Amino acid sequence: MIPIEDALAHIERHVKRLPIVSMPFEQALGLVLAEDVFADEPMPPFPAAAVDGYAVIAENGPGWHRIVGDQMAGYIAEIEVTSGTAARVTTGAPIPPGATAMIMIEETEEQDGRVNIKTDPIEVGAYIRPIGLDIQQGQQALAEGTQLGPAELGLLATVGRTNVEVYRRPVVAVMSTGDEIVEPHEIPERGQIRDSNRFTLMSLVKQTGATVLDMGIISDKQHRLESQIETALTQADMLMTSGGVSMGQLDLVKPYFAQRGTIHFGRVNTKPGKPVTFATVDGVPCFGMPGFPVSAMVSFEIFVYPALRTMMGHPDRHHPRQKAMLEHTFRHAPYRTEFHRVNLYRNQEGQLTATSTGFQGSGRLLSMVEANGFVILPHGKSDYETGSMVEAVLLEII
Ligand code: AMP
Ligand code: MG
Repeated sequence: MIPIEDALAHIERHVKRLPIVSMPFEQALGLVLAEDVFADEPMPPFPAAAVDGYAVIAENGPGWHRIVGDQMAGYIAEIEVTSGTAARVTTGAPIPPGATAMIMIEETEEQDGRVNIKTDPIEVGAYIRPIGLDIQQGQQALAEGTQLGPAELGLLATVGRTNVEVYRRPVVAVMSTGDEIVEPHEIPERGQIRDSNRFTLMSLVKQTGATVLDMGIISDKQHRLESQIETALTQADMLMTSGGVSMGQLDLVKPYFAQRGTIHFGRVNTKPGKPVTFATVDGVPCFGMPGFPVSAMVSFEIFVYPALRTMMGHPDRHHPRQKAMLEHTFRHAPYRTEFHRVNLYRNQEGQLTATSTGFQGSGRLLSMVEANGFVILPHGKSDYETGSMVEAVLLEII
């Protein structure tokens, strides 16, 4: 059994960033930029109206103005605003030459080709979005290492970067093992249970932005397991199995990893998740996740999540950690480091505070459903008093 830090060091040593590829930006959601992106043009590219209304010369002040024409969005009208005149202008349209302010339509009244401006005083530049207000020409729009989300893709569209350099999207093969495991739509016979791990693990993979390869349920038969692992190895950048890594007679995953590649660790001093296994086969990182549903999920967050983030080119690989105060006493057996599922929240003083999600059985997925983080109760120390400060892993921004 090895300490968690050693296990993470093995992963760091054997998991590499995937190559940089160039792709259409629409396909890059969730990927990490491998270049800085600059704006070649300013946004807005021309002084633009921020409201529907009238363009005027601010210094003329309120009162009746003669209307010289219309400037709608999308073209340049041949009009000019001079002293005592105004132009009808819609939101997003270029400000006609001469005008120095926009007046909201709500503060005007129009009659017989003239408009009465009621705004007083009129500020120079009012409701005009100057060139480069949102992005200046030459400005860095996005930095290398940024994960592309909806706002980032919008920004790429704005600056016309239709092709981007990103770290390639990992393909992660996920399979469940066990003679007792059946599909969720099946009625389990005596001795059988439905597969949950494949669905929690595939969802966790998708949330990182990686692609999932669903390898189904594999029975505890040596040849089935072997052929499915071999198929996965040819198609995926990472393999994740669940079940079959304990000490049972039919726990066939570890022996096969050992035969085909190198097992870097197979037992970690952690609760839950002790049998989590990490191997490389033909250079492909392979994780043998524990069968118990909570163990599989917690092991993902602690070991697989940083591995995937490394492959994806993220500069920060782990979930953020912060000190949290325990809201009540936590029983803890001192021989292993425990990731206790908690609800984290900020109290009135802004202090991050943790309450347990209850019974911490490795099969009780409800302890994860209600959790937004873990507190780490290190080995070597037993029960924790109310008010103790411990390290917390944040699975959400709190
Ligand atoms: P194992 O690691 O194969 O010994 O499994 C440990 C425990 O987890 C057993 O109670 C299994 O029935 C259960 N288990 C294994 N795989 C799954 C799965 N895919 N979904 C839900 N429970 C599982
Ligand atoms: Mg099993």
